[in-house]
Amino acid sequence: MKHLIRLNRQLHSEFTGRVWARESEGCLLLEGGLDNWDDIVRAGNLAVHARKKFTRRFLRELQKDGERLGGVVNNIRFNGRSPMRVPDIQDNAVEGMRPDALVIGGGISGCAIARELSRYALDILLVEKEHDLAMHASSRNDGMVHPGVDLHKGQWKYRYNMRGNALYEKLCEELNVDFEMSGQYVCFSNPLLKPLLYLSLLYWKWMGIPARVVGKKELRRLEPGLKEDLVMALFFPSTGVVCPYSLTIAFAENAVENGVRLSLDTAVLDMETSEGRVTAVKTNRGTVYPKVVINAAGVFSDEVAAMAGDRFFSIHPRAGSSAILDKKFTRALVRTCAAKIGTASKSAHTKGGGVIRTVHRNILVGPDAVETPERENFATARESIEATIAKFTATCARMNTAQIINYFTGIRSPTWEEDFVVCKGRRCANIIHAAGIQSPGLTAAPAIAVDIAAWTAELLAAAGTDVQPNKKFNPVRRRIPHIAAMSDEDRAAMIQQNSDHGIILCRCEEVSKGEIIDSLHRAVPCDTVDGVKRRVRSGMGRCQGGFCGPLILQIIAEEKGIPLWSVGKSNGKSQVLCGPSKDSQ
Ligand SMILES: Cc1cc2nc3c(=O)[nH]c(=O)nc-3n(C[C@H](O)[C@H](O)[C@H](O)COP(=O)(O)OP(=O)(O)OC[C@H]3O[C@@H](n4cnc5c(N)ncnc54)[C@H](O)[C@@H]3O)c2cc1C
Repeated sequence: MKHLIRLNRQLHSEFTGRVWARESEGCLLLEGGLDNWDDIVRAGNLAVHARKKFTRRFLRELQKDGERLGGVVNNIRFNGRSPMRVPDIQDNAVEGMRPDALVIGGGISGCAIARELSRYALDILLVEKEHDLAMHASSRNDGMVHPGVDLHKGQWKYRYNMRGNALYEKLCEELNVDFEMSGQYVCFSNPLLKPLLYLSLLYWKWMGIPARVVGKKELRRLEPGLKEDLVMALFFPSTGVVCPYSLTIAFAENAVENGVRLSLDTAVLDMETSEGRVTAVKTNRGTVYPKVVINAAGVFSDEVAAMAGDRFFSIHPRAGSSAILDKKFTRALVRTCAAKIGTASKSAHTKGGGVIRTVHRNILVGPDAVETPERENFATARESIEATIAKFTATCARMNTAQIINYFTGIRSPTWEEDFVVCKGRRCANIIHAAGIQSPGLTAAPAIAVDIAAWTAELLAAAGTDVQPNKKFNPVRRRIPHIAAMSDEDRAAMIQQNSDHGIILCRCEEVSKGEIIDSLHRAVPCDTVDGVKRRVRSGMGRCQGGFCGPLILQIIAEEKGIPLWSVGKSNGKSQVLCGPSKDSQ
């Protein structure tokens, strides 16, 4: 108890009495009001730090009946935050549905869970508030399949990362998604550290992470683009790269092919609960009556938990921006992933990223880490990108801002404990959380999905549902054939079959008209320019859609039977054209 008193004293002196802490139902509640987000972050960090000092006896007392211990719940009032963006659509598309399980969130977590659940003969509904899948963190990340460096054995992040990493190879083969176990170099410039590096191999062995020391000559041979003063490195061969949105979409397509229902533009707005169970879930497209609810709502996972009366953690969003460099510089920079030690700032709770060669041979540089109250502001600050490039010139001296073709910002969803919340509900009997899924959430998603599907089956069986395997489950997904990656014979045969594959529309990424048309008629519907881009990479190259953009608009309009001016860039509201011109009428 004395730690709680000490924490309150500290909060009182730091924030002149405007913030205080109290224990409630095993959670550490922060209350009061502040008008500066940095102060709120500071208060949260003080609370979580103080909580680490709570005695075991006190923690045991909080953990009544062996239930999971709650975390820091930050209820400090702050007025400068935008509310969740909700789609304009109001209809009854999901009204009255009674699925066995409702999965909330079409990011990598929700889609992996939906696919894993489709192994059972169950009625599964996946809802996503955006117009497409992977619109939040799952398309705005570095696509690294982490080896587990920077994690600690006691963390859920560590456990799920290690299991997820091991699942990737087979999974990407089944889903027909590009994946490369390319490895990662953590580089050093001080030769005196060599003995320490060898000593550290014992630690990596204990962590279960394969590693070896690479000397100067070998490093130069393997990665000639690294800065001259980098004289040795630790090499982690179990680091991989994957395209995160391709994988998310592949999970969802395979789930839908195996019977999962998907409703896009569907935001969960509220829930009705009775006797510690969710009885109804209200959306902008009608009310759903699920037996089990799965919360995979990313940055909004604490709000979804609150709707179910089960908010025992809270999210403090953290933005990260990365730059995408032109493919033509790839050879001069890195062939795997690399970063000089020290350029990855651990204090900011990021794995620090690095210089990463993607599966598509672009170079990604970043991300940084900036605390923000905004959960959906994906704007990228110029200073962020410039600072990131400057930082990583310590790894690749030849890198510069002129090589950038695009950039992006994603928002991580950490809890104050900086760990995943993957568990059944504490106060609500029919909810399961995949919350606080910050990095390495992409790596961990396949393993999280396995556990959550098993728990869902358990909850359903306990409530009397007959849970049987889905005899028709097919783990294999057909990919959209990419004409440029084919052998001459296969390409000729493909064009013979369908001449649209002989018309290259996106010249930078060599994407054919046939591929674009294919992307519009898949298991998961897509009808926007960005949707096509995420599926076949049209517009991802140096010209960023300058040439192929108008042609793609036209194909979408023709294939969907809609006017040209109603085709959206990223959703139904972001039309590229404003209307018919005089000449076209
Ligand atoms: C900059 C950056 C770099 C990263 N790099 C890596 C990396 O290299 N490797 C790695 O392993 N991890 C990385 N991560 C972490 C990884 O991207 C995330 O952990 C992962 O994408 C989280 O997936 P998710 O499905 O849980 O959340 P999200 O992808 O955010 O998906 C949640 C979905 O829920 C939807 N939603 C929210 N509220 C509602 C509602 N009320 N109703 C309906 N739908 C709702 C949202 O629209 C969203 O689509 C990175 C993250 C960032 C931001």
